[in-house]
Amino acid sequence: MLTFDDGYRDFAEHAWPILRRAGLPAVLFVPTAFPDRPGPGFWWDRLHSALRRTDQKFVDPPGLARIPLADVPDLRRAHRVLRTYAKSLPHDQAMFWLDSVIEKLSEVPSLHRVLGWDALRRLTRQGLSVCSHGHLHALCTRLAGGALAEDLATSKRLIESELSDPNQVAALAYPASATDAAVQRAVGNAGYAIAFGGGRGVDSIPLGDPTNVLRMPVHRYGEGLFRAQLRPTVSRVGRLWMEGRDRMRAIGRSSAGGESTRAPSGESSAKDM
Ligand SMILES: [Zn+2]
Repeated sequence: MLTFDDGYRDFAEHAWPILRRAGLPAVLFVPTAFPDRPGPGFWWDRLHSALRRTDQKFVDPPGLARIPLADVPDLRRAHRVLRTYAKSLPHDQAMFWLDSVIEKLSEVPSLHRVLGWDALRRLTRQGLSVCSHGHLHALCTRLAGGALAEDLATSKRLIESELSDPNQVAALAYPASATDAAVQRAVGNAGYAIAFGGGRGVDSIPLGDPTNVLRMPVHRYGEGLFRAQLRPTVSRVGRLWMEGRDRMRAIGRSSAGGESTRAPSGESSAKDM
């Protein structure tokens, strides 16, 4: 199953024509607040653009120590630090904080590049499945209970009313893969039949947990590595590694002892992939 997140216009321009020609079905997960909404675009695009354009030699983000911006490695590090910090904040606070940081860096043009509803309806008629990627693209783990329920319900309602696709399955992909047990319960309560992408790996049918179906992210690495990741043994090792990592994180949270730094079994082989 091929899934694409965020609903960028270049999906329709580049990926979809190739998928159609090859007869490959696909799912596009769209954050439903963005189609046809005038606005500055996704925060990560704006942050990236602000860092590329800035002529500042450092930035003082509220809540963080001064970050140098002197050269390319500095800028890469700044991007990583600022993204990580933004993702640690409650959603509303993160958006406010990002606006203030981006303002300090440089002026950024509108980077709104999400497909509109008309285009999404056209793609749906051509056989694409369009499903939810949340409403605001907020990290589900960074929304308080009521706000999470509202985000999930709004997104589901908009997908149903805007696309009115009779074959529609109520599916969701977690923005930035952020989920936990409470989020997965909320997703079930909101009426989603299936939710993707909390973890990395290969899932099979029947699904173990329909509210946390594994996916294999495709990055800019070679075809060989991608093929290797799809092999059942490699995927099993990857899953063991993830389970070990989660257990270690849980132990690390519950005790400040040295146990959390010990590598779980299987980590070295999983890291070599
Ligand atoms: Zn996304």
